[in-house]
Amino acid sequence: MNIALIAHDRKKELMIELAIAYREILKEHTLYATGTTGKRVIEATGLPVHRFKSGPLGGDQQIGALISEDKMDMVIFLRDPLAAQPHEPDVTALIRLSDVYEIPLATNIGTAEILLRGL
Ligand code: PGA
Repeated sequence: MNIALIAHDRKKELMIELAIAYREILKEHTLYATGTTGKRVIEATGLPVHRFKSGPLGGDQQIGALISEDKMDMVIFLRDPLAAQPHEPDVTALIRLSDVYEIPLATNIGTAEILLRGL
């Protein structure tokens, strides 16, 4: 499965903890991420991750493009609901596209854990 990982700044530490905790599951899959999230996950887990641009520079849109080509199977998007994002339209578009293509999308760690355990 192709899995996309995205975390807003105040959720990056949580993403690292998730990636470490579920490393054995994640290593069986092909991982994609926005730039900074991917860098942090690689540093923390040593897993191979295909990194796109940083979110504000178009990374969310690059992941969205793969969703629209039916090339993404799951999205873990740890959003920060308390901070305005400079690329909020891209964030909204990514969530919308996941619904258009009916791709499982977790926007918080609770859902993310359940999706990962379901793999
Ligand atoms: P980043 O992008 O992983 O490059 O920080 C995440 C985002 O804010 O969409």
